[in-house]
Amino acid sequence: MPFRDLIGHERPKAILRAAMLHDRVAHAYLFYGEDGIGKRLMAIRFAQAINCDRDSGPDGPDACGTCRSCHQIEACIHPDFLLIEPDREQTNPQIKIEHIRELESQIIYKPLVGRRKICIVDEADRMTLGAANALLKTLEEPPGYSLFLLVTSRPFALPATVRSRCQGLRFAAPARTQVEAALILKREIPPDDARFLAVVTQDRIGQALQTDLGATRAQQEEFSTLTAARSLESITTLLTAAEALARADRAPEALEWIAGWVRDLVLVRVGADPDNLLNLDQLPALKERARGMPLDGLLDLLDDIEAMQRSATRNLNLQMALETVLLRLRDAASAPIETRSAR
Ligand SMILES: [Zn+2]
Repeated sequence: MPFRDLIGHERPKAILRAAMLHDRVAHAYLFYGEDGIGKRLMAIRFAQAINCDRDSGPDGPDACGTCRSCHQIEACIHPDFLLIEPDREQTNPQIKIEHIRELESQIIYKPLVGRRKICIVDEADRMTLGAANALLKTLEEPPGYSLFLLVTSRPFALPATVRSRCQGLRFAAPARTQVEAALILKREIPPDDARFLAVVTQDRIGQALQTDLGATRAQQEEFSTLTAARSLESITTLLTAAEALARADRAPEALEWIAGWVRDLVLVRVGADPDNLLNLDQLPALKERARGMPLDGLLDLLDDIEAMQRSATRNLNLQMALETVLLRLRDAASAPIETRSAR
């Protein structure tokens, strides 16, 4: 799939294409910007474009997506391509010095079939200090045929010495409309589903392309039932649900959806554009609920949920957290206007 099919990122794309066209490709680039917006995909396409078997057209080299080289890079089995990334299964995923040693042992050989020997280091900020120092040595005197693409959402977490060896390319999140258009085109889904996925993933195109739409819609339905007026009426219902969710290890997921619901209430309360709502299909119910709810209380609740989410990885009692949130949502919903406390 050629460059032109990548969504957004016009500036980095133009810079990379110009570099290829004028044969001025640097030895190392740092692709940085928010998580999940397509930096890694761009790095892979760039690698494919450089080593593509097809002759380049008038616009310079591009990735045809169908030749042997493009296929091999996509599958990470190209002899001149190496993708280094942390083991995400680990609790503290790291790129260790062994990974960089492996890279060093390969980079000393000239490309076998491609134009360049290309190495992508994804989540480069996860390199240990030892790994970063080892990589720095290679970056200081890179072989002429080598190309390093470092990808990170936390550039500040990389040693300045490593950063200074790379040409930096900043990636900004594509606009909501671009994300929706891409989802409609690539996933062939209706506009309201595209909008929903864009909101759920906070416009992260990479994530939005992969999110299971059916499962996410089912979660939305399940949790909006939980936060609906009828469920909130019964304390027993809330406590039973909190217990069941915590027991099934679904408390973080529940907190995420409840936060989404509360955020919607806040947005409706302040009269924001409904297009930003997660639960747009429940606009009438949201309006009905939001009307009687104190804005301060909703904002406090949202702050607290977000704090719980941040500490959820530590030993927080998730069942209790969930119970607290649901009971507070219930309180907010049943607070009579005249006795609202100014929190
Ligand atoms: Zn190709």
